Amino acid sequence: MNASTALPRPQPDWAWFLDLDGTLLDIAPTPSAIVVPESLVPTLMALRTAAHGALAVVSGRPVQQVRDLLEPLRPAAAGLHGLELVTPDGLRHGAKRPLPPVGNLRRMLQESISGILGVEFENKGATLAIHFRQARNAEAQLRRIVEAAVAKNRGFELLEGKMVFELRPAGIHKGVAIREFMAIAPFRGRVPVFAGDDKTDEDAYKVVVEMGGITIRVGEEGPTLAQWQIESPAALRLWLAEAAELLKRKD
Ligand SMILES: [Mg+2]
Repeated sequence: MNASTALPRPQPDWAWFLDLDGTLLDIAPTPSAIVVPESLVPTLMALRTAAHGALAVVSGRPVQQVRDLLEPLRPAAAGLHGLELVTPDGLRHGAKRPLPPVGNLRRMLQESISGILGVEFENKGATLAIHFRQARNAEAQLRRIVEAAVAKNRGFELLEGKMVFELRPAGIHKGVAIREFMAIAPFRGRVPVFAGDDKTDEDAYKVVVEMGGITIRVGEEGPTLAQWQIESPAALRLWLAEAAELLKRKD
C-alpha cells in the first residue's frame, strides 16, 4: 500500500507545522551534512500558497539556519524548539520570559566531553546539543555527564533526540510555538497539522491534539502520541506535494 494513502485527506482549512530534520529532511551523520532535496522548497511554496500562507517550519535548529537552508522560501518558523519565532511578516520574536544563564552549563559540558572521540558539541546560544551519531558507544557515559550537569544547573531540562542530547530551558517546546502561531493570522481559525519524527516532538503532538488538530509521526521507532504515521521523509515530501496539488485544484 502506498503510505501516503494512509494519511487523512488534506483540507483547505489546515495550518501546516513541519519539523525539519528527520521529517522534511533525511537525517545525516552530522547536522551540518543534511541535504535539501531540490523539490522541497517548490513543494513548500506551493503548499503555503494553497494554505493562504498558513505554513511554518518548527525546528530545534536556530531560526536563521532553518531560513538559510530553505532559501528562497523564507518561511514563518520556530527555532530552538520554540524559543525563537519568525512570524509570516518576517518579524523576529525572542523568548517571552527570561532565560536561565547557559554559560556555566556550557563550560561544564564542554570540559567533560572534550576527550570523547566523535562527539559533536553544538552551541546554539540559549540551547545546547551533544550529537553522538558518530560515537554511539559513548551514549551511557554522555547521559551520566549530561544528567549530572543538568542537576547542577537549575532551569534546564534534558531532551533526548535521535543520537542527540539537547539541553533547553525547562518548559519550552514546539507545542508552545504552535500555540503562538495559532493565535495570529493566517493560522488563526485553521486546523493545526504537525509532522515530526523525534521524542522532542511529542510535546507538540499533545498540544496539537488538544487543539483538535492532526499529528503525524515520520518513521516508526518507539511509542508516540501522534495519530498518524508515515514511513520516511521522502514519503512525507510526496504526500505534501500531492496535498499542494489537491488544494490548488480545490481553490
Ligand atoms: Mg526532527
